[in-house]
Amino acid sequence: MSLIVQKFGGTSVADSQKILAAARKAIRAQQEGHQVVMVVSAMGARTDQLVALAAELSDEPPAREMDMLLSTGEQVSVALMAMAVDSLGAKGISLTGAQIGIQTDSSHTKARIKAISTERIQRLLGEGNIVIAAGFQGIDEDFNITTLGRGGSDTTAVALAAVLGANQCEIYTDVDGVYTTDPRVMPEARCISHISYEEMLELASLGAGVMHSRAVEFGKKFGVPIHVRNSFTDITGSLIVSQPEVDGLPVSGAAMTKNEARVTLLGVPDVPGSSLAIFSRLADQAITVDMIVQNVGIDGKADISFTVLESDLESTLEAVEDAKQALDIEQITHDSEVAKISVVGLGMAEQIGVANKMFRSLSQAEVNIQMITTSEIKISVLVDRKSALTALRAVHQEFQLEKPPWDEKPVLPEICQPPQNALEVVKRLQVVGMEDLTIDTVELDDDQARITILGVPDRPGVASDIFDRVAHENVFVDMIVQSYDGNEGTTSLSFTIPKEHLTLALKIANKICQEFDCATIQHSETISKLSVSGLGLRSHTDVAIRMFQSLFKANLNVSMVSTSEVRVNVVIEGDKGQIGLRSLQEAFADVLR
Ligand code: ASP
Ligand code: MG
Repeated sequence: MSLIVQKFGGTSVADSQKILAAARKAIRAQQEGHQVVMVVSAMGARTDQLVALAAELSDEPPAREMDMLLSTGEQVSVALMAMAVDSLGAKGISLTGAQIGIQTDSSHTKARIKAISTERIQRLLGEGNIVIAAGFQGIDEDFNITTLGRGGSDTTAVALAAVLGANQCEIYTDVDGVYTTDPRVMPEARCISHISYEEMLELASLGAGVMHSRAVEFGKKFGVPIHVRNSFTDITGSLIVSQPEVDGLPVSGAAMTKNEARVTLLGVPDVPGSSLAIFSRLADQAITVDMIVQNVGIDGKADISFTVLESDLESTLEAVEDAKQALDIEQITHDSEVAKISVVGLGMAEQIGVANKMFRSLSQAEVNIQMITTSEIKISVLVDRKSALTALRAVHQEFQLEKPPWDEKPVLPEICQPPQNALEVVKRLQVVGMEDLTIDTVELDDDQARITILGVPDRPGVASDIFDRVAHENVFVDMIVQSYDGNEGTTSLSFTIPKEHLTLALKIANKICQEFDCATIQHSETISKLSVSGLGLRSHTDVAIRMFQSLFKANLNVSMVSTSEVRVNVVIEGDKGQIGLRSLQEAFADVLR
């Protein structure tokens, strides 16, 4: 018999009428022959109200008691939902996280799921019940109530779908589905018919509020199809599955993140261990670092820029001040008036000419790019916060995201089969912890070369001109990094290309250098790009640190870094790739699956 998990968010259970409407949806699904598990959030803004109440009593309420308090919101919802189901003549039973047996670790207010027992739910479903599970909560080894972090009911729902081998997990919310960009800021945004887990993970971390990132990670890890849809309309919504909407589509979504700030460290000694010393200080303060851009060192000094949440800026500056003293760094600058614009798409990993198109559209909109980082499926640029919306609109239009990429109707992936092998994976991971970091691969790519142009004028249009010409010659550019170089009015730009295209790319670079009056060009014939890919790389912030640590131990100097939700890439100069690869394999041996 097929099993469906239906999750209803706060707005979908905000009052008794909405609770009844949700109950009807579940009963309808049951009448269609499915077994149904409902997962519900706290009513409306209930959780916010409880948080505010706690704040009236204490600036720092004990985390354990916060969980005790917040979990009541969901307990109210499940009880009311069970009453609604009963009033409509169906059989329903409510369960708290503890009653289900959602085992978590003990990190209150941000607990991770370790295991879920299914026996009780299965039995209740077998008896014809609609099982109504409280989202967002679990229980630790000592029977303390825990919560999974704000928005965590999505994660409960997808995790339950995974362990029960559900055919589908429906997420009912107050929007129609997943959009190409936030429709509240850009009304022309389009609701996507389906999107891949990887793309959704990137968009979720860029602030696309529809889904909790950890829920998407569960979906990917266990192959659960996730269906995001509106509680109040009959619109089909969006599926999050393994396939992208259209194969080869270079960009499927765009995002704007306005709450970041840039920090730049100028004149950092270019020796193994510098990045480690800096970023471990930030990790110690639990500061999440976003765009990391390190340009290639000159005269033994390098410049490192990165972004953090604006709210973390003060503690970041304290932490880097400490690093400044310890490492003898020359200068620290920062800018809190910045915004990040990103495009995401599985198809860009194999295509020439995606980055330059993005840069071109920004230059036409007269937006200056301050920093660039790229990963396999994401390109991010940092711009002045005042130009953020103009920049977002420019790239959204450039990639024609408002237009459906299919002709008449999207080809929807087949999702009526329960995910293959998912239950085996679940069984294996229940032993170590379902949400533990998993690393799929540690890889070496030593077929690339690098070019760096120094003293590039810092004005709109330069990056697009450079990469337009490189694309025009059919050269595939992999990593691009643009950063401040410590001089007024100029930036430095590094990019990697296949080795066999080095001569050609150098010719182009030389011409550009003359035309734009750049300072100089440097290149490296052999570089080694080392990548670690897996799941949980963002929430387990120690991954990059672990990489830096192990490369430092092997006495290797990192010259470029790029990160995404599913991958961290570092470049080391020269042919030390094998040594680097072995040291990373060792460093991640315990989590390699
Ligand atoms: N009620 C919790 C919150 O508001 C969990 C959820 O809604 O997903 O964060
Ligand atoms: Mg909520």
